Amino acid sequence: MKSVLLNKDAAIIGRFAPTPSGPLHFGSLVAALASYCHSKSQQGQWLLRIEDVDTPRVVRGSDRQILQVLEAFGFEWDGAVMYQSDQFECYESRLSDLIELELCYACECSRRTLKQAGAKIGPLGLNYPGICRDRNLDPKDHSIRIITESVRTSGFTDQVFGPIEINIHAQVGDFVLRRADGIYAYHLAVVVDDAQQGINQIVRGADLLESTCLHLYLQQVLGLPAPGYLHIPLIKNIRGGKLSKQTGATAVDTTQASALLVSAMRFLGQSIEPDMDHAGPEEVINHAVKVWDPANIVPEANYNKTIL
Ligand code: GLU
Repeated sequence: MKSVLLNKDAAIIGRFAPTPSGPLHFGSLVAALASYCHSKSQQGQWLLRIEDVDTPRVVRGSDRQILQVLEAFGFEWDGAVMYQSDQFECYESRLSDLIELELCYACECSRRTLKQAGAKIGPLGLNYPGICRDRNLDPKDHSIRIITESVRTSGFTDQVFGPIEINIHAQVGDFVLRRADGIYAYHLAVVVDDAQQGINQIVRGADLLESTCLHLYLQQVLGLPAPGYLHIPLIKNIRGGKLSKQTGATAVDTTQASALLVSAMRFLGQSIEPDMDHAGPEEVINHAVKVWDPANIVPEANYNKTIL
């Protein structure tokens, strides 16, 4: 696998963090390329993390497949690949810290209970109205939520989308850090892992724009550094939703690697040479790093298949 030794002195450390729930599709390729170019154009490191925390969603073998496809597209990552499934003890220990700080409580509410209680839909799903907060339930077999009462607004300036702000308490409510089935929530896992890998520049899809506000809150209560954030526009499916494995996005074709990379760069507004799709994928990637300018990314970009 294409991994080079970690340079501990690199100032910029970025990452690509795919969920192994199926093969790499064009939307993930765009995220991989953008995060790669952003780090490498600043002489930084580009780390990989397989986000297999949500074990029921994992499709066996897709991690290897994703790594092989990245390799076929000419990506080289730095250091060893991190797997979230090796990180459960770290998540548990950070969760214990938050429990000790009296920032968490156990909750037995199902989605149905929440709907019956009239919970409103916020930017990240149902807004939790705090039903179990004072019930002192046993954390075993129940989900664990973090108290957000003291957090009014949380926001940041995204490098593409500009200022993003949500009122966590009013629009999201106390959110889950560990599910009743024992699975750690993505929000907890991602902040623990990013800190552990020393990530200081995060480039990922705009579907996580609002979630970033939760991540900043968790970083603050856990005493972890806050990285810079750059979200890229999403590639939509024909129904206007996010192109994803769940909605049947197809695997990228490695025999079309250069053309797909050129297409991804055009979607990202980058000035890639027109004849680049005849070059090898490594050459396209090197060129992409040279011309990379995040100021050219258009937040409302739409992917049009004819650019392929
Ligand atoms: N694992 C997420 C995905 O595959 C990305 C999460 C992140 O970059 O923070 O969409």
